[in-house]
Amino acid sequence: MRRGNWKIKIAIGLLIVGFAFVQKCFNKTHNQYTDRVQNINMSADQEIAIGIQSAPQIAEQHGGLYQDQKLQDYIDQIGHKLVNASIAKETPYQYEFHLLADPNTINAFALPGGQVFITYALLSKLENDDQVAGVLGHEIGHVLGRHSAERIAEHEFWKTISTGASVGADAGGLVNGIGQNVLLGNGRDDELESDKLGIQFMINAGYDPEEMIGVMKVLKAAAGPNRTPEFQSTHPDPENRIEKIREAIREYQE
Ligand SMILES: [Zn+2]
Repeated sequence: MRRGNWKIKIAIGLLIVGFAFVQKCFNKTHNQYTDRVQNINMSADQEIAIGIQSAPQIAEQHGGLYQDQKLQDYIDQIGHKLVNASIAKETPYQYEFHLLADPNTINAFALPGGQVFITYALLSKLENDDQVAGVLGHEIGHVLGRHSAERIAEHEFWKTISTGASVGADAGGLVNGIGQNVLLGNGRDDELESDKLGIQFMINAGYDPEEMIGVMKVLKAAAGPNRTPEFQSTHPDPENRIEKIREAIREYQE
């Protein structure tokens, strides 16, 4: 290697890192539904497309759709009631609710753009319509909060930074580690924001928001002493969430 080469490498590395930060500034968007400024580099149409594209694969990973039209209709009815009574209806997103056949994995999740999923394992643990509304409302919150799109932008930002860093100093691995922590840190706030939005949608649609606390208790009981359901492992501690849920109920019911 020729002497002086490292200077060029560092210069290119810094340029790439600088580019990542400039891009991040241009990607700032105000979310009118949550009143939050976010870094997002895709349109609502792109979010919808990603969601629709990924939905079949997600369903396949959970044993496909649950083969009972009556139960599927039940999920649809509650999901659409939540959407139609709230600000979710004013968004460009196309909400679809899917009941997955999976009898073991206690989970619910949302893809960007409006594809919402709940497993049969979770549905069978829920005690009433209000709790089902709580789970679906939380997931609608992820869509409206644009959490996936935000994570994708964050991921791309760190990927660019790590490219710059590895060109400049071969320290890509280190920066990758920081990126991961940032990703997980954001996830926690996303969950709390979704709980809060879920409470709002429940109240708008006439469901009992106290049952969101019921959902937390169901999740806790389902976990048992050793097993953590997926829905919980990617979410903050239920006790922590219950406290915030109580605050949100007080705030929206005044
Ligand atoms: Zn969540």
